[in-house]
Amino acid sequence: MKILQCWDDGVTSDIRLCELLRQHGAKASFNLNLGLHSLQRGNGWNHEGHDVLRLARTELTSVYTGFTIANHTLTHPYLTELDEQTIEHEVSDGRKQLQDVFNQPVYGFVHPFGRYDNRVLDAVLKSGHLYARAEGNAVQNFPPDDPLEFRSTCHFLSPHFWQLYEQSKEIGVFYFWGHSFEMINEHMWHQFEQTLIRINEDADAEWADIPELFMN
Ligand SMILES: [Zn+2]
Repeated sequence: MKILQCWDDGVTSDIRLCELLRQHGAKASFNLNLGLHSLQRGNGWNHEGHDVLRLARTELTSVYTGFTIANHTLTHPYLTELDEQTIEHEVSDGRKQLQDVFNQPVYGFVHPFGRYDNRVLDAVLKSGHLYARAEGNAVQNFPPDDPLEFRSTCHFLSPHFWQLYEQSKEIGVFYFWGHSFEMINEHMWHQFEQTLIRINEDADAEWADIPELFMN
């Protein structure tokens, strides 16, 4: 079974996450909004009493070295509330700017807040993405009927994580997602490390890069 994971929003706790993933040889994709990264860390918010900060623009390439980058639009808007021209700008320039900064092709898109309509799907396809993560979690057949509505299997904190993991073996793909800022204490980081270890110990599992699955 191929194991896929992706993490949203480009926050400072991704530094710790990336180190952990490297340590355990796990592949991952990070979904970024390039327009929200300034010269300094910032544009933050509070999550359960903890300050969350976006990484500084200048540290992005070093933090994410070796990982896949996907487009999460320029500024994380509610795309369905925008006019077509602005949708296109958010989607297409988001991809272009990420490709320039990371010097790698960007094939994936993640709908901000999971919201989209046909205008958004058009813009995503037209600007060169091969797949998009859609709202909601599901044990979905692979390949999905529409690669622009590719659903994750579950959130990394799902209480059904291992049940869904085993269930996904028939399909051959297990895909989890999350935000590193959701790990708000040492226990949660430890738990996640145990998850990586357990996956690595499973002879049926191998980490995969998401774009690989959509290229042929
Ligand atoms: Zn997001």
